[in-house]
Amino acid sequence: MKPSGMKPRVLTVLGATGTIGVNTLDVVARHPGRFEIFALTGATQVERMVEQCRTHRPRIAVMNEPAAAAALRLRLAEAKLPVTVLEGESALTDVATAPEVDTVMAAIVGAAGLPATLAAAQAGKRILLANKETLVVSGQLFMDAIATSGAELLPIDSEHNAIFQALPRDFDGDFKRAGVRALWLTASGGPFRTLSAEAIAAATPAQAVAHPNWVMGKKISVDSASLMNKGLEVIEARWLFNARPEQIKVVVHPQSIVHSMVEYADGSVIAQMGTPDMRTPIAFALGFPERIDAGVSALELMGRQLTFEAPDTARFPCLQLAFDALAAGGSAAAVLNAANEVAVARFLEGEVPFNAIAASIAHTLDALAGGAASSLEDLLEADRQARSVATAYLEGARA
Ligand code: NAD
Ligand code: MG
Repeated sequence: MKPSGMKPRVLTVLGATGTIGVNTLDVVARHPGRFEIFALTGATQVERMVEQCRTHRPRIAVMNEPAAAAALRLRLAEAKLPVTVLEGESALTDVATAPEVDTVMAAIVGAAGLPATLAAAQAGKRILLANKETLVVSGQLFMDAIATSGAELLPIDSEHNAIFQALPRDFDGDFKRAGVRALWLTASGGPFRTLSAEAIAAATPAQAVAHPNWVMGKKISVDSASLMNKGLEVIEARWLFNARPEQIKVVVHPQSIVHSMVEYADGSVIAQMGTPDMRTPIAFALGFPERIDAGVSALELMGRQLTFEAPDTARFPCLQLAFDALAAGGSAAAVLNAANEVAVARFLEGEVPFNAIAASIAHTLDALAGGAASSLEDLLEADRQARSVATAYLEGARA
């Protein structure tokens, strides 16, 4: 419940119709009066957006596709819901930066989320960051924007949220001063953890999206199967916590109970644990610095075994490719991300085999090494070039 006299937080949820968006609205609904929804955004799912408008009464709903926006206008008029419908990418930026808004949940998938998320950072909002691709593509630029505007950044990705919780509250990126030796990202290992290289090569989209512990959107599910998700998270951790690559460790923990850890100079390792449910990090960030109910079932540890093993970069080369891109610097991470997005989309369409994902990323990184990354234009150009190189490569890899 909302403490009396407290002003509600005014939220825009970018990517409201997705998995993170739905979980965000679930937590919001548990706290009547504590949050107010200014805007919800989606790409194409009109019926889900109508339902969300009925429940949450936003002032604005944005649909990416004009046809979806038109359909939503009709449906909202029928339902007599007074919501303004906007469309297109500029509308995403408008609702992420509107002066009425204090908090932005950034939960669009992919580099498509970058412009609005970066704009929210420049506008000094509290940003709840699920859209890891924004940090992968534009890490330095995004962190600079946060520092310049005084925006507040709270990680939603469960690993980074865990690390945030396990770091000292006043952590400012100085590992030495805080006595931090390393950040340990846990990885579930995904659905192919125990499969042979041959079986992984022959894996279908249906197998790839069947994650053992987490229910997620399709793109991040495929990323989890290839371990590219962990690779993207390594890059995300580098920027969020000002970590050097060698200070970021990855350990496979198939039960997904330990969400990540911080190792200190005195040998202490502080972990954050919980039932694998994204509503925990979402509620942590929504309520911060207060702890609020997330609707998550209590962690049942009795009789459970927690195991840890090293990641296998031979069967899962995407993890190493992410470390390589981080070492290369410049626009390499933007190239890695774009090549991955293209390859995952082709794989989900059934057009290329699973191992074409890593192969096309490696090829694209080689082809586009050494690009600059000093402006948003540089990064968008690297993204565009990488999409075209990866697309051409994948034409030759069709199943
Ligand atoms: P999802 O596919 O379920 O939802 C994506 C959302 O983005 C939808 O609302 C969709 O309408 C919108 N969208 C897609 N393409 C768009 C475009 N071109 N323009 C505007 N909107 C667009 O994905 P998700 O699982 O909710 O993941 C969202 C983000 O959060 C991703 O960056 C993912 O890596 C990150 N994340 C997700 C989880 C999880 O458990 N699902 C965990 C950690 C991080
Ligand atoms: Mg994660």
